[in-house]
Amino acid sequence: MNTPSRSELPAALAHHRVRHRYAAQVRDGVVRFSWTKGPWFIGMAAAALLGGALTASAGALALYAGGTALVLLLGHSLGSHRKLIHDSFQCPRWLEYLLVYLGVQVGLAGPIGLLRQHELRDYAQRLPHCHDFLRHGRGFWRDAWWQLVCELRLADEPTLTIEPRIAADRFYRFLERSWMAQQLPWALLFWWWGGWGFVFWGVCARVTTGVLGHWLIGYLAHNHGEIHRVVEGAAVQGRNVRFTSLLTMGECWHNNHHAYPGSARLGLARGEWDPGWWVLSALARFGLVWSLRLPQDLPPRPELKTLVPAVEANAKACRFCATRAAAT
Ligand SMILES: [Zn+2]
Ligand SMILES: [Zn+2]
Repeated sequence: MNTPSRSELPAALAHHRVRHRYAAQVRDGVVRFSWTKGPWFIGMAAAALLGGALTASAGALALYAGGTALVLLLGHSLGSHRKLIHDSFQCPRWLEYLLVYLGVQVGLAGPIGLLRQHELRDYAQRLPHCHDFLRHGRGFWRDAWWQLVCELRLADEPTLTIEPRIAADRFYRFLERSWMAQQLPWALLFWWWGGWGFVFWGVCARVTTGVLGHWLIGYLAHNHGEIHRVVEGAAVQGRNVRFTSLLTMGECWHNNHHAYPGSARLGLARGEWDPGWWVLSALARFGLVWSLRLPQDLPPRPELKTLVPAVEANAKACRFCATRAAAT
């Protein structure tokens, strides 16, 4: 197929980090077992199941619950996703580093590797066709096997350009090289603090939950759930998976995210609980974050069709948005 001219693509893709030359670049490829993430996930899950069952205690469970919530909320949702990948708010560099470091603690990948995976998926899902791996397009068990322990090898990858602010950053490059080893200092600390039970629950069970939960919400959020807005011409629509709002720290509002990828706020309507946004709002009051982008701050997208107009009205009526609008 010929090179698509930029005018044939939605305008929203003009400034995307990914760029393809022909459709097969996001469609043709093979899924193979990954000798990086496969043994990593299987080893963590086995240690969590066997070691965790033998060493369960109230203290270990509290460490697991607290640690998991912390890295998913501050690390994955705020650090890796809303800041590093989408740059949807501004904050001091030290805070960005802290949030992204906590995101690496989820155990999915290094910060740059995670950004690459997200961007390829995000770009491919907005095109008319993409590989089933990128759109969670197969059945539940096949998707679990693929996403948890396999990798997609495209026949000819599209180009991906990461800005030097991230790609050349020495701290991010260090985390990228050492993302698995970043669990070790915490494993040692937990072993010293509470023995093997704290290691199995505080590290292995936390990583297993983070990786498994990331796949599960990815599967659900592209196959089951509410659609309030449609991105016309896209290979797959995002879905809002309401019952997981607190567990996912607001990341479950994926229909909203497909519509407004650059928004720092994911839960837009009344009742769409978004713990990540609650934390950002609190940090904004202390002056630790600013320039939070909302749907109305983003360029219009002609390919976006809203099915439930009331959702937009509710989003604009939120207390924090009104405060912000009055202040600017
Ligand atoms: Zn998606
Ligand atoms: Zn995203």
